[in-house]
Amino acid sequence: MNLPHIQDAPELKGKRVIVRVDFDVSIGGNGVLNENEATRVEKSLRTIQFLQDKGARVILISHIGRDPKETLRPVAEYLNKVSGLHVGFVPHCIGDDVVPILGGMKEGRVILLENLRQHEEEKKNDPEFAKALASYGDLFVNDAFAVSHREHASIVGIAKLLPAYVGFQFVDEVIHLSKARTPEHPALLLIGGAKFETKFDLLKEFLPKVDLVFVGGALANNFLKVKGFEVGKSLLDPEVDLSDVVKNLKVHVPIDVITDKEEVKTVEQVTSDEKILDIGPATIEHVEGLLKGVKTVIWNGPMGNYENGFVKGTEAIAKAVAKNKGASFIGGGDTLAATYGLHLEKDITFISTGGGAMLDFLVKGTLPGIEALQK
Ligand code: ADP
Ligand code: MG
Repeated sequence: MNLPHIQDAPELKGKRVIVRVDFDVSIGGNGVLNENEATRVEKSLRTIQFLQDKGARVILISHIGRDPKETLRPVAEYLNKVSGLHVGFVPHCIGDDVVPILGGMKEGRVILLENLRQHEEEKKNDPEFAKALASYGDLFVNDAFAVSHREHASIVGIAKLLPAYVGFQFVDEVIHLSKARTPEHPALLLIGGAKFETKFDLLKEFLPKVDLVFVGGALANNFLKVKGFEVGKSLLDPEVDLSDVVKNLKVHVPIDVITDKEEVKTVEQVTSDEKILDIGPATIEHVEGLLKGVKTVIWNGPMGNYENGFVKGTEAIAKAVAKNKGASFIGGGDTLAATYGLHLEKDITFISTGGGAMLDFLVKGTLPGIEALQK
């Protein structure tokens, strides 16, 4: 894929460069960034530092959280603490007082504007809003891969109004996830979690591309049900039609599970008053077996209801994936949250920062944020 990389931009000295970053992290009660999410912020440093070294004036834009009142101020403070960048913070992203501040920026200066989603125009991809943002700069850089499945003003609208590029982190995502889309064989897809619709799209797209699939998490409940097993009160998608997929011999599902009574049961033993909440030990062993000799493994979605303590399956699978000698690609907000703390980073080929964006890219091979650059 031929993406316009910011490295290839002509003359950056003195230019005003608007960089769409993904600083959507959760801030703890003490106003401090959660440690496991700080990497998301740190990954953007490469592009920022590159631009600063070139003498550009760097204007960072991002959203944070779901509540439009949320502020990016703690992120600016965090950046100042860890990077020595001296990031200025402007408590607005739009309005008459923003322009003079940006006008006074010296070369190499970095400024972060306030949460874009304080304005509903951002999500609506309002053309006037995009125009106002674009007016701040000479160039636009998208380094927010994880948001690029969204047709928002700061992703799509602005890219059409300025010479537009992608940053280092974005390129990294595209290179690695493109490799995952054309996997070296034998290839194994591990999927879990609970977002049925998007995950089944992934499954359908990858079924012809991989040699093996293991379905865990709440997703597996649908498979077990179609296969005629009792799944009791387990989480299910009533809509999804698995009639074709379930016949495919590549597709493996749990053989034992842990239920809300915390008992290990074979899938034949589950009763109508139970909820399946994790994969069991025999299933873990089965997946370890599937992983033997695999050259590519792609994993998205936890194997169990980890946030309520049903984390054994997910942790065991994470360790097995890390141990595998082939290339490994993992992603998903919950997948990363569930495996954080195991310190497996160095044994995984690529950890995507994109949840929905990773899935959409894996399925379609492109994203609205990429299309907007090819205007
Ligand atoms: P990701 O963010 O990694 O893409 P999802 O958002 O699809 O993953 O799914 C994560 C959610 O799936 C978590 O809330 C987790 O508790 C839930 N989950 C996984 N397995 C089960 C299960 N057996 N029953 C209920 N919830 C489950
Ligand atoms: Mg999730």
